[in-house]
Amino acid sequence: MTERRHGLATALESTERRIAAACAAAGRTRDDITLIVVTKFFPASDIEILVDLGVRHIGENRDQEAKAKVAEVAELLGERAPTVHFIGQLQRNKAGSVAQYADVVHSVDRDRLARALDAGAGRAGRSLDVLLQVDLDPMPDPGRGGVRPDGVLDLAERVSACANLRLRGVMAVAPLGADPGSAFARLARVHEEVRVAYPDAVVVSAGMSGDLEEAIAHGATHLRVGTAILGSRAPHR
Ligand SMILES: *Cc1c(COP(=O)(O)O)cnc(C)c1O
Repeated sequence: MTERRHGLATALESTERRIAAACAAAGRTRDDITLIVVTKFFPASDIEILVDLGVRHIGENRDQEAKAKVAEVAELLGERAPTVHFIGQLQRNKAGSVAQYADVVHSVDRDRLARALDAGAGRAGRSLDVLLQVDLDPMPDPGRGGVRPDGVLDLAERVSACANLRLRGVMAVAPLGADPGSAFARLARVHEEVRVAYPDAVVVSAGMSGDLEEAIAHGATHLRVGTAILGSRAPHR
């Protein structure tokens, strides 16, 4: 076993132990949770190892990097290629590109972006699962991404009208410096409103390396874990 493979296997096991403990504490089963390993900044060769170790879902956050890596992974793995989740802030002019290779887009936060993804998916002859990214920060900041909680139902209605998009749920990042437990509790309330109106919107994407326990306690169905499995990312060049 190579050193990298050993490191990834060990980190994956310890993350699985954290998930199992959090599920036990919350009275939930591991099967309720999908682990998305966030592979941004890391090479396709790491994805190959992760898939060997049983990983079925990866997350990426920048179009250029993701597009190239997904193509490489398809070459390497063929039918074993993992499900691709696009989790980053998305410019409208990149939506057509992302619609060609992503299976799930977690960061839909405005109508115009939804329509651009819908058009791109239509051109590619695909349909996309989408999540509405909710901005849970007490202080609105238009630069950060995410729809404010009071705008979620409106956006859900717009997305559900898009022929090539399937509204599957909500996503959030706990605001910096806030208590993740109370942020995820708020997300759970927003999710409940969405799910009542759109019964297929069963996904709650919440929880990263530092706060996956709180996310599981508050009903997360999808975790997005990077650093705890792959190690620290090199800084942006
Ligand atoms: C990078 C990223 C993650 C993973 O964060 P870690 O702290 O490395 O686990 C999760 N969600 C989003 C939206 C990200 O951009």
